Amino acid sequence: MTDTENRLLLIEILARDLMKKHHVDYLDFKFSNDKKKLGYCTTEYISIQTNHALYDDINEIQNTILHEIAHALAGLENNHNIFWKEIAKKIGVKIESKQNQTE
Ligand SMILES: [Zn+2]
Repeated sequence: MTDTENRLLLIEILARDLMKKHHVDYLDFKFSNDKKKLGYCTTEYISIQTNHALYDDINEIQNTILHEIAHALAGLENNHNIFWKEIAKKIGVKIESKQNQTE
């Protein structure tokens, strides 16, 4: 495997571990090439931007994964409201972190 493949595999394992830990492993996980969003959550999957996964600090990536997990737990309709924030805080999301780029 190339370094790129290894890195993506590592991030996917991290994401799936965290998703399992927080009981949202009924969702799929994938990488996306969306240029604006570092992470995204739908009713079917959580995605992480490929470039974010490849080039950013592992703690930042973990924070993005947790941010998306909080969306899955809170319900997508809650967006970034107070209910989402409470769950995000509980599972350890650093909310300031690249908020504007993380949907
Ligand atoms: Zn968000």
